[in-house]
Amino acid sequence: MNIRYLALAFLLSAGLLAAACSDDASRGASDAPIIEDRGTAELTWWGQAMFTLVATDGTRVVFDPYSEIGYLVPTAEELAADVMTASHEHPDHNNVALAGDATVLRGLVDGDWADFDETFGDTRIFSIESFHDSSNGQERGLSTIFVIETGGIRIAHMGDYGESEMTGDQLDELGAIDVLLIPVGGVFTIDAAGATAIVEQIGPRVVIPMHYGTTALSIGLEPVDAFLEGKNARELGNSTVGFDVDALPAPGSAEIWVLDPAGG
Ligand SMILES: [Zn+2]
Repeated sequence: MNIRYLALAFLLSAGLLAAACSDDASRGASDAPIIEDRGTAELTWWGQAMFTLVATDGTRVVFDPYSEIGYLVPTAEELAADVMTASHEHPDHNNVALAGDATVLRGLVDGDWADFDETFGDTRIFSIESFHDSSNGQERGLSTIFVIETGGIRIAHMGDYGESEMTGDQLDELGAIDVLLIPVGGVFTIDAAGATAIVEQIGPRVVIPMHYGTTALSIGLEPVDAFLEGKNARELGNSTVGFDVDALPAPGSAEIWVLDPAGG
């Protein structure tokens, strides 16, 4: 091999190595979102665990619609959902009467996990099995984590997560999470300390707390304050926020963005 080929071989292998390293730096190959389009996804918090996500392709996903729990209940027409998820069958999470013509993905069917991995337009939605308590579901049953991939962003909605720590399998399935929607209000789910531990395990870019006590909520949950204490938190003063993958905080920074409930 003459010196020119040697240099070429070196450059090629260096290039491959650099590509592999930069991949590793952002997320492992198996964690990479399947869909890599670009744009802004828009998320609105209604209150409790209910959100509308308008994906970058325009698909409207509504998570965990509540029934009468003190917040304003929007109509099916106002929501105009394409997809509606219910992490489990408790009335503050499964008001699928608001689905209209949407495809409904119930995380639990006949008391067992219904595992999903579906694609709607350019939006991928898959589910991960979880428990509503820290005793393998013996107190409060099962729940589901829903993960959405849109515009190169991976968002996890934790449902009524109640486990004291994420299992290795759950972390593997989650992959590199950009935006984490996580209950922090205790009583029926993880509380401020529990959520803090789970956030540390997952290491997302952005954390949006949910399922906590507010002036509107008629269910007695703890307020968000304890979860925010000593952390890098921003009150956005808005119910809606946009995510652009190129403008998000660095992986692992777990910046907390607090939304105002649109239903409260
Ligand atoms: Zn529940």
